Amino acid sequence: MAMDAEDQMQFLYTLRSKGVTDARTLSAMEKVDRGMFIQGLFAERAYEDMPLPISCGQTISQPSVVGLMTQALNVQPRDKVLEVGTGSGYQAAVLSYLARRVYTVDRYARLVREAQVRFNQLDLANITAMAIDGSFGLPDQAPFDRILLTAAAEDPPGPLLAQLKTGGIMVLPVGQSDTVQSLIKVTKLESGLEYEELRSVRFVPLVEGMGQE
Ligand code: SAH
Repeated sequence: MAMDAEDQMQFLYTLRSKGVTDARTLSAMEKVDRGMFIQGLFAERAYEDMPLPISCGQTISQPSVVGLMTQALNVQPRDKVLEVGTGSGYQAAVLSYLARRVYTVDRYARLVREAQVRFNQLDLANITAMAIDGSFGLPDQAPFDRILLTAAAEDPPGPLLAQLKTGGIMVLPVGQSDTVQSLIKVTKLESGLEYEELRSVRFVPLVEGMGQE
């Protein structure tokens, strides 16, 4: 499944109409073919603005939500970014065009393996994917300039806040699973944490411990 010119135009048009207006975000998303991150029957819907099923009962997020999260994260070229929730690897691939280095982790080893194959195929050499429980972050590589969670926590996890640099930004969905969650942006200032609520979203929950696949 490859993206043709018409798919591409429609895809970018939809992103813009849903509020993804940041030029760097749009240009990164233009470079990553979402069809590469979806297997089987659903691949033909890759360019529609909807979440789709991937392995291990998880989902690849809706493109407009990926765009809004990426935009809110305001990644700078020298940044070291942590993503918790690799899933298909799509979001990490988008981030890899904006950051110096991306660490992405998932509790399912199988998802990490499959995403790694895609990163290799696409020559995205600045991504490190690891199968670990991301609720505790990645202490070995901390601190991070930016942290993105793509699974919903009840509150911003303490260990992740601790691994964010001063001046850093963390974007995450918060709320109980199966209800409406809020996408929030947390900025770590000298004076403390600043919270901004972006919009309502629905993500799979952040689950502690490793997955069984
Ligand atoms: N960003 C992904 C979509 C992620 S779906 C993409 O672009 O396709 C959410 C992912 O979070 C799932 O793959 C799930 O396994 C993972 N997850 C949930 N709890 C986790 C945890 N504690 N540590 C790491 N990953 C977790």
